[in-house]
Amino acid sequence: MSKTYTKREFLRILGLGLVFMPLVGCFDSKSSDAKESGHTGGDDTAKAGDDPEELKITDQDMILLSRNDAAYERYNMAFNKRIQHLPKYIAVCKTEKGVQYAVRKAAKENLKVAVKSGGHSFEGFSSNDGGMVINLSQMKKIKWLGNDEVEVEPGCILQEIQDAFFPKKKLLPAGSCGTVGIGGLTLGGGYGFFSRKYGLTCDSLLQLRMVDGAGNVIRSEDDPNLLWACKGGGNGNFGVVTSFRFKAHDMPPLFDSYVLKFRNMTAERFESTLSAWFEVSGQLPLEAFAAYVLNGNTLTVLITTYKSYPDFAQKIAPITALADSTKPTLNAPLPQAMRRYYGRKGPIYFKNASAGLYKDKDDILQVKEELFKLVTTYKGIVFQVNTLGGNINEREFEKQSCYPHRSLPYLGELQAYWDNASQEGALVKAFEEIQTLFRNGGIRAHYRNYPDINFKDWETQYYGDNYVKLQTVKRKYDKDDLFHYPQSVRV
Ligand SMILES: Cc1cc2nc3c(=O)[nH]c(=O)nc-3n(C[C@H](O)[C@H](O)[C@H](O)COP(=O)(O)OP(=O)(O)OC[C@H]3O[C@@H](n4cnc5c(N)ncnc54)[C@H](O)[C@@H]3O)c2cc1C
Repeated sequence: MSKTYTKREFLRILGLGLVFMPLVGCFDSKSSDAKESGHTGGDDTAKAGDDPEELKITDQDMILLSRNDAAYERYNMAFNKRIQHLPKYIAVCKTEKGVQYAVRKAAKENLKVAVKSGGHSFEGFSSNDGGMVINLSQMKKIKWLGNDEVEVEPGCILQEIQDAFFPKKKLLPAGSCGTVGIGGLTLGGGYGFFSRKYGLTCDSLLQLRMVDGAGNVIRSEDDPNLLWACKGGGNGNFGVVTSFRFKAHDMPPLFDSYVLKFRNMTAERFESTLSAWFEVSGQLPLEAFAAYVLNGNTLTVLITTYKSYPDFAQKIAPITALADSTKPTLNAPLPQAMRRYYGRKGPIYFKNASAGLYKDKDDILQVKEELFKLVTTYKGIVFQVNTLGGNINEREFEKQSCYPHRSLPYLGELQAYWDNASQEGALVKAFEEIQTLFRNGGIRAHYRNYPDINFKDWETQYYGDNYVKLQTVKRKYDKDDLFHYPQSVRV
């Protein structure tokens, strides 16, 4: 029997009372040195073909953990308790040179490599069994280059980014869960409250540095195709990204949110609220975001904006008019408002995945009866839709990145949570039934950062027509397929 969550338990899982996926509780990274100034990357990079031992690294560059080392278990932990891996080595890297060493050691010992920044991969793609895991959680330097550009190491988690940006009144448009890693988030796209205006997180990426499959340091200035490939397709595919250079945007000062509750949902109410939500979200200004979250027979709608519009309440009236209650929180200072969405510290048992990128409500309404029945029958399953659209669909952003789904303005997300392993079977079965409904309904586009191990044709579902070009980048930087996991780009 799956657990029926009390309201309090569910809110504890999802964080601070707002049932919104990016709030899901997050892993308590035990890493230190949250924020430092200093240089990112080094210029003392070693050249191709070097034996790892010639790099002459110290503990300040990397610590190599094996299974019987005391710290192994701690660094082996990931946010998702459902997926356990046992790598042969975990290389806890502190510098780019340490990363080079770890890559070369793996190549020399013929071990597959997985890369881990924040450890939030839905499907455990940042670890492996019997191979090398390159753990970047200690690489957290942030270096400002003037006011509008910043170099960030991949081990920074989102709340550390905010802590570095907000005092400077700057913003990086990213997700909201505090402990998600900037590494994985950026390389797979990255969306959140600010994306409809500023684009995906990867659209603010100007340059990066990467250690490739030969252990060499590559600068994206030397290869625009690498930057293109890492904007939506860079997760553990071509090498280890050791540094990102981002454009920093001006931080909006204030944040408004509206939380709407609908209890005792019925199939009819599911259809009417979904229709109203799509009507409202289709008219929202670029500064606004909306989420539709069906959890059992309770629906929560979140609508936010960081620019006050005098007619905003009127704009959202078609959905507020149907709600049992509406709670506005207006004019909150933005840094304070963002903390409300940091979510819980994990690890937790869950399965989450993209349930499709949609063009409009019909993509969902075609499966409405069975979808509603499954979500309301299996307690612990949550179906959510988030707004994308707006400037995400800018032509320039499209040209410069491999993220292929810009014209699809809604992201569906299926979630399942449980407390102990025995509950997994029934929930995951219902989860897969819902995924099959969408697949049979012709939904084929999915977000790479919300992977599902069961997606067939994941290559085109994540990357569309861009997959072939991604393979050419793979062959250039990792021809021996050192960086490999179940859905990595194939040579
Ligand atoms: C609670 C929660 C909330 C979330 N909220 C949002 C959200 O608001 N918006 C959003 O867009 N997404 C969100 N996500 C999804 C998130 O973007 C992905 O899970 C992301 O890949 C996590 O990155 P990570 O560094 O934490 O994870 P990891 O598990 O460390 O990495 C994820 C993937 O990226 C690869 N990778 C990581 N770092 C590097 C690197 N430096 N070089 C090369 N490859 C690398 C890994 O190999 C792996 O394939 C959320 C996920 C969770 C669990």
